[in-house]
Amino acid sequence: ASRQSSPADLLEKPHELSHIKKVIGVVSGKGGVGKSMVTSMLAVIMRRREFRTAILDADITGPSIPKSFGIKEKAMGDGMGGIFPVETKTGIEMMSVNLLLENETTPVVWRGPIIAGTVKQFWTDVIWNDVDFMFVDMPPGTGDVPLTVFQSIPLDGIIVVASPQELVSMIVEKAVNMAKQMNIPILGLIENMSYASCPDCGKKINVFGESHIDETAAKYGLPVLAKLPIDPQLAKNCDQGVIELFEGDWMEHAADVVEELLK
Ligand code: ADP
Repeated sequence: ASRQSSPADLLEKPHELSHIKKVIGVVSGKGGVGKSMVTSMLAVIMRRREFRTAILDADITGPSIPKSFGIKEKAMGDGMGGIFPVETKTGIEMMSVNLLLENETTPVVWRGPIIAGTVKQFWTDVIWNDVDFMFVDMPPGTGDVPLTVFQSIPLDGIIVVASPQELVSMIVEKAVNMAKQMNIPILGLIENMSYASCPDCGKKINVFGESHIDETAAKYGLPVLAKLPIDPQLAKNCDQGVIELFEGDWMEHAADVVEELLK
């Protein structure tokens, strides 16, 4: 008789030298909403709080994370099939397809199964050592690739990033369904590009119209963890590879919720 498989059967084991306490997936409905930036900022804050922090960049076709940390070097192998992550200036351990490709501008045009396989290897073959919090920048959307990532990496929680232009309710519903299937709690929602502040008078401007994040959050019984403004300084920090220098306290509550996971 064929064996029933449950989602838990698909979970992969990390490298024998990796001891990772909590893994948080950051998801979005589509690309370009700031998922990678939110992932980076969360990691930066947890590192500032002196936790051993890692980023697994699973957004294979749009790997923007190494650039926003100004990482130039490549990841090295241990000669036995293991790969060492690259360390950022403040000591965040990182793995991304851009740390493996010779030329960062080479577009990744791989098919779904290859992408999913690469992400799995980032979990199984990278020598992460001791990590308190690992943030996984998930592939955008709810297709096969994110689903496979969901199934192969044991996530302790997920955070949904959305922008006000989107049909937030639909994205959250999909994320909730996916998380339920895998039995992973959704820690909450983060609205990015929520508003802009007038540089002269400080007034908040809802560039994309009225936000629906609060009603959506209430509908699904989820907390809103942060509302991030459109901030030219943040974009500059990313472009110049100095996201570790970002200023702003918008994300402290989200970081508190993440920190709770260890308690
Ligand atoms: P995603 O991972 O969802 O595809 P990114 O995090 O790569 O999106 O963000 C896309 C671009 O938008 C980046 O260049 C980033 O610097 C910029 N960006 C994202 N959020 C903000 C924000 N709140 N203020 C200013 N620029 C932002």
